[in-house]
Amino acid sequence: MDLKELGEFGLIEEIKKGIEVPEGYLGIGDDCAVMPQKSGMETLVSTDMLIEGTHFLMDDISAYRLGWKSAAVNISDIAAMGGRCTGSFLSFALPKGLGKEWTDEFFRGYKEISAIYGCPLLGGDTTSSPDRLCISVTVTGEAPAGKSVKRSNAAIGDLICVTGNLGDSGCGLKLILEGCERDADAEKLIARHYLPMPRVKEGMEIAAAGASAMMDISDGIGSDLRHILKESGVGAVVDTGSIPVSDEMKRKCAQMGWDALEIATSGGEDYELLFTISPENEKRVAVGHHIIGKIVPGNGIEWKGNEDKNYMGYRHF
Ligand code: ADP
Ligand code: MG
Repeated sequence: MDLKELGEFGLIEEIKKGIEVPEGYLGIGDDCAVMPQKSGMETLVSTDMLIEGTHFLMDDISAYRLGWKSAAVNISDIAAMGGRCTGSFLSFALPKGLGKEWTDEFFRGYKEISAIYGCPLLGGDTTSSPDRLCISVTVTGEAPAGKSVKRSNAAIGDLICVTGNLGDSGCGLKLILEGCERDADAEKLIARHYLPMPRVKEGMEIAAAGASAMMDISDGIGSDLRHILKESGVGAVVDTGSIPVSDEMKRKCAQMGWDALEIATSGGEDYELLFTISPENEKRVAVGHHIIGKIVPGNGIEWKGNEDKNYMGYRHF
């Protein structure tokens, strides 16, 4: 069905369907969403844009996966603070030619992941675009007051940890862009690229254990770790042999002659958590994680095992 037939308000009615709005909240349909304030908590807000041609290609990504990913990358920012999600807001500019079949699939993906993370869609804006699809998502969350984990408190002697394998998503993207054969390994890596699972529960556990700094990995540790170092005024030694990589990625890189370490440090869009924590507190982290290095005086990253390299992460400009 053409969206013209449905109209803006018809589309909003469709968007509203099936969203579970928690007790005390006011969601889609009024001038503002209303979210109750809980004592002892602080509010987290983050926003991200996804632009056709820059962040995704229409021919490569299904509407379902784009819906999922639009929510996922934002939910991951709440995870990175050690918070819990409370809601999201979605604004988009839709180009002509996208019909109701497309928006239905987009919202199926968006709502599916939102339900998993208890992050109801509470509002947004809908407009048309003369050319490309633009999506902007804002997500809100909460954490115990004063307990959100920032990037600025990494201390000398802290361990550097990650919650899971790095590089799968970057490897998946490379497979897509280079039009490689889609065997079982390739499909797994590509799914990691399109259907990331943000580490919200893990982030809350890591925060409760007393992490000193945390962020989600969107540009690769070669770039993201540098943010923590800069904000905290410290340096890092990363043991390249300890960076966790999946068997699928190892096999693919061997087969294609790609540098697995380059992809693991610079591929980006893993949406795992990168955190620093004192050795005592690290023992209290009950969720799966890998120690990949430690915080030292100075600045920048020393890549132990590959000292001649200087992995910089994904560059947007
Ligand atoms: P306003 O005139 O106040 O801008 P709109 O007519 O744009 O309101 O939107 C009506 C309601 O629908 C609002 O609650 C708004 O948040 C919601 N809404 C509009 N577009 C979207 C969207 N893409 N996703 C979720 N909610 C939306
Ligand atoms: Mg509006």
